[in-house]
Amino acid sequence: MKITYVIQKSRRRSISVSVMTDNRVLVKAPYGTTERTVQEFLLSKKDWITKHLEKQNREEEKAESLGLLSADEIKQIKNQARKIIPHRVEFWANKIGVTYGRIAIRLQSSRWGSCSVDGNLNFNCLLVIMPPEIMDSVVVHELCHRRHMNHSKEFYAEIDRVFPDYKRCNKWLKDNGGVYLKRVSFVGTTV
Ligand SMILES: [Zn+2]
Repeated sequence: MKITYVIQKSRRRSISVSVMTDNRVLVKAPYGTTERTVQEFLLSKKDWITKHLEKQNREEEKAESLGLLSADEIKQIKNQARKIIPHRVEFWANKIGVTYGRIAIRLQSSRWGSCSVDGNLNFNCLLVIMPPEIMDSVVVHELCHRRHMNHSKEFYAEIDRVFPDYKRCNKWLKDNGGVYLKRVSFVGTTV
């Protein structure tokens, strides 16, 4: 498999690799890293890179067969999400026993949700076209950050307490989320 890669050098200590959504491979390396070191590193990660590129290709094919979402469809999805998600947040916040700040719902290219230190929540509107329990699992994840601002054991124990189906939902999102993102063309889209 042919691999196109981009090197980003900075004042970091180690070398890392990730696959970008456009199928290019991003190598982050310390200043002074030679081309040869980068290539050897890429070779050692070949299996991992291939696996990820294959997954992205499968997602692209599936997204293509389902079709790109039109601007109109995205508008409808956003409106629907802005109606539904705040209710789910209220429901789960009561159940978990936490407060929260503002809720923002947008179309995002890579994230499903986030929670700021002030408790402001951010959700990807695409969650609303997924099975309802998947949307709930993201809401619960972000709200549990109101108790633990990290991904510690305690954080996951808190999730498990209120939402025992979390692991399955999270796996579903990892396996299927990419297709949803790929049905949106982010070039020139107002988010
Ligand atoms: Zn998190």
